[in-house]
Amino acid sequence: MTEDSLRAELVERCRELDARGLNRGASGNLSARWGEVMLITPSAVAYGDLRPEMIARMPLAGDGTWEGPLKPSSEWRFHRDILRARPEVGAVVHTHATYSTILAIARRSIPAIHYMIAAFGASEIPCCDYARYGTAELSEAILRVLGRLNGCLMANHGMLTVGPDLTRATWLAFELEALAQQYWHVLQIGGGHVLPEAEIAEVARDFASYGVQARKAD
Ligand code: 13P
Ligand code: ZN
Repeated sequence: MTEDSLRAELVERCRELDARGLNRGASGNLSARWGEVMLITPSAVAYGDLRPEMIARMPLAGDGTWEGPLKPSSEWRFHRDILRARPEVGAVVHTHATYSTILAIARRSIPAIHYMIAAFGASEIPCCDYARYGTAELSEAILRVLGRLNGCLMANHGMLTVGPDLTRATWLAFELEALAQQYWHVLQIGGGHVLPEAEIAEVARDFASYGVQARKAD
């Protein structure tokens, strides 16, 4: 992996999220760790117009200073703060995917309605408090609920996922949107059964041998 190939992958993942309907226009943003630096999508550029050289570079230890032809995403704070707080995380994906956002507007967390929730290291995917986009308050609200989990909803805004690399974080974004869609639909028929925490812990153990850890985004 070179910095150039990581930039190319960021663009590819943005296009994939756009093509599969998780993001539209310039909504959402992606970042990836590159040593001591964060590579992050630029602000207000539609994914269709995005090119690898437009990706901004920001030192993780810095105060927001950046290099690049375009300014970084307005959400650089939470991307930087997650990468700082979680050394095992290599990539952060943020989307305004429809069903995740519907639940985030209702400020509902997603309970263990399907065993795939175990991929998030959680038996419930929480929704963080509302704070305006781009603020340090939003970053704090996210870090408070995210802890060691691999995803959360963001009140009246959207969702985010994290992973060791872009492949995994993007795959989790699709899985989170699928869980949100399933939960929203089951609420329409009066609700469903929720799996017990002990069952989700067993599933998480099984996943190690099933290969979910290594599964690529489809
Ligand atoms: P940027 O275009 O600045 O990345 O903002 C999009 C977004 O989703 C803000 O939360
Ligand atoms: Zn957003």
